[in-house]
Amino acid sequence: MEFNNSILAFERAQKSIPGGVNSPVRAFKSVGLNPVFVKKAKGTTITDLDGNQYIDCLASWGPMLFGHAHERILQAISEAAVNGTSFGAPSQYETEMAELIIKMVPSIEMVRMVSSGTEATMSAIRLARGYTGREAFVKFAGNYHGHGDSFLIKAGSGAMTLGIPNSPGITKGTAKDTLMAEYNNLPSVEALFLERGSEIAAVILEPVAGNMGVVVPTKEFLQGLRDLTTKYGALLIFDEVITGFRLARGGAQEYFGILPDLTTLGKIIGGGLPVGAYGGRKEIMEMMAPVGPVYQAGTLSGNPLAMAAGIAMLTMIDETKDLYSAMERKAARLEKGILENLKIAGIKGVVNRVGSMMTLFFTESPKVTNLDEAMTSDTERYASYFKQSLESGIYLAPSQFECLFVSYAHTDEEIDRMIDANLQALIKL
Ligand SMILES: *Cc1c(COP(=O)(O)O)cnc(C)c1O
Repeated sequence: MEFNNSILAFERAQKSIPGGVNSPVRAFKSVGLNPVFVKKAKGTTITDLDGNQYIDCLASWGPMLFGHAHERILQAISEAAVNGTSFGAPSQYETEMAELIIKMVPSIEMVRMVSSGTEATMSAIRLARGYTGREAFVKFAGNYHGHGDSFLIKAGSGAMTLGIPNSPGITKGTAKDTLMAEYNNLPSVEALFLERGSEIAAVILEPVAGNMGVVVPTKEFLQGLRDLTTKYGALLIFDEVITGFRLARGGAQEYFGILPDLTTLGKIIGGGLPVGAYGGRKEIMEMMAPVGPVYQAGTLSGNPLAMAAGIAMLTMIDETKDLYSAMERKAARLEKGILENLKIAGIKGVVNRVGSMMTLFFTESPKVTNLDEAMTSDTERYASYFKQSLESGIYLAPSQFECLFVSYAHTDEEIDRMIDANLQALIKL
């Protein structure tokens, strides 16, 4: 494979954009390569500037549940665009979108649209603080909730890959209100509540972690958090920016049958356009301005193109009866193939999977249930694996600590090619 055009494009981009990218993980730094510049994407195929084609397993970090440039979403966007691209005034797209979310996500009675997952989590924490009159909150090591100041403490995803656990620019004052606990470790949360229970506004978590690679919670852990927050009068916030509409129509809360007080959404909800949302019980959501005193706003919030794409996406999800069973079946086949390949190649690894999200950790550890165990992974090995996969036409996440996403659009034949490429890559490690 030749990457000459991507290399030139990257050189040019670096002169005008810090690091040549608008989001750090895209730079391929943790796999030691030049990033591939995308020319176009359709269905599950990405084509780069050099004409190389890949089976996409990144799904734009989650949103592309039905593959790229889906006809129904394109049509919805173009129909909306004819009538204006932004009004700064309410439109019925927003109500329709809200009604769909409320219908699909069990714990959401009211919802506010924003333009990114980061905005959603920042707003949800502000709301939790406004509602409870408390200032601290609990977050888990390795969970990522966007790049809001108070979340960039032991954050996952790009912040972790680049080894920036505490980004400069975040004040001590802000950091002191973020209390850290360990994922899947209920006693670590109990200890915080015992010490500072009356100061804790909320516990926020990824109900299946995706940003330290996939880490699956035990049901007892989630139930324990539900019970603890209720006991101490704190809110439980599920950050379902990845899991929302991916694990089930109603996200992880439906999948596990545990209802949070607030939910944050993003990624899939925008159908590939910039959208986020936060929602929950009416009584909490009505703390938001203009009804209540907690302020949050956005010039482009509820943007008609974004809403049209989101409505098309959620409608397709609602109508596709075999969506989750089909993705489960394909992802399970891929997982089985990878596990067999590991044995054949004699390579140690752990595959964590829930539904259509999975990670192959190159670790000697028998299990990966928290950040410390995830960090035992051999990231150099992942880098070689990534490179081999790329060269055989499989586009994976450019970091060990991210997910592989199976989409509804992946064919059985593509899953076979992925299993085959996986074996070839493992053998060469
Ligand atoms: C991606 C992500 C975010 C941030 O969303 P952006 O749209 O990138 O701001 C927040 N939480 C989780 C769990 C995510 O995966």
